[in-house]
Amino acid sequence: MEVLVAKHAGFCVGVERAYKIALQEPENQPVYMLGNLVHNKQVVERLRARGIIGVHSLSEISAKGTLLISAHGASPEIYEEAKQKGLKIIDTTCPWVKKAQKIAAELAGRGCRVVIVGDKGHAEVKGLLGWSGGRGTVVETPADVSNLTVAENCLGMIAQTTQAEEQFQNIAAALRAKFANVEVHNTICGATSHRQSAAIEIAKQVDLMLVIGDKMSANTNRLTELCAKTGTKTFQIETAAELDPSWLTGKTKVGVTAGASTPKWITGEVISLLSKIVL
Ligand code: SF4
Repeated sequence: MEVLVAKHAGFCVGVERAYKIALQEPENQPVYMLGNLVHNKQVVERLRARGIIGVHSLSEISAKGTLLISAHGASPEIYEEAKQKGLKIIDTTCPWVKKAQKIAAELAGRGCRVVIVGDKGHAEVKGLLGWSGGRGTVVETPADVSNLTVAENCLGMIAQTTQAEEQFQNIAAALRAKFANVEVHNTICGATSHRQSAAIEIAKQVDLMLVIGDKMSANTNRLTELCAKTGTKTFQIETAAELDPSWLTGKTKVGVTAGASTPKWITGEVISLLSKIVL
């Protein structure tokens, strides 16, 4: 049985960087992590085992210590609140997200409405709204544009870094058709689309596809959907323990990919188990 691994699989550069920085933090003082550093239970457990304490809000922190800002970033209010609490900040915001935040602040500084294409509940989008200084509006679909009213004379559009390119372009077209002075800043990062194309390419060549990642990870679930759409039987697993050997019966080529929040050690365990299964 041959195992083909997708070219872009597992941690994206932003998550890899955030994880490495988090592990470097000395353990002699409390380290708090605002939100999930990544959407992966095994990674979060590993960080917890090193004494990193997860919090949903800074109001949960009463002692001095270090605050880790995740790769998704945070609003300026969070930095200010952390400073006032005397917390040392370790900022793991991905450089791509930082770039989008900078554009949001610059547009708002010029008095423009900032339209953010993204998922309303996502931490990155909440941070971008903060950087838009009260001038931000989140748009999820082209249909949302029809209800949009803008008091400002200019409008700038940015995106959550993991948005689909097609959706972004459709929303840009809807905004341009409705408003004058629309500035479009494409802040989508290439990591998601590269991972998706690589997964589809492999899924088309194999007779079973395994997608590794947390069921709570939106980008992993999307990879599973896209692989299944190719017509190849696809299973999503969180760890090697979920791999059912009966899936491999009669299969000659198996494809493997992993979401942007899946660490190398889990993908490695699955590949190693596949190589040991003799059918
Ligand atoms: S998906 Fe892109 S923007 Fe988001 S953390 Fe990864 S590299 Fe950064």
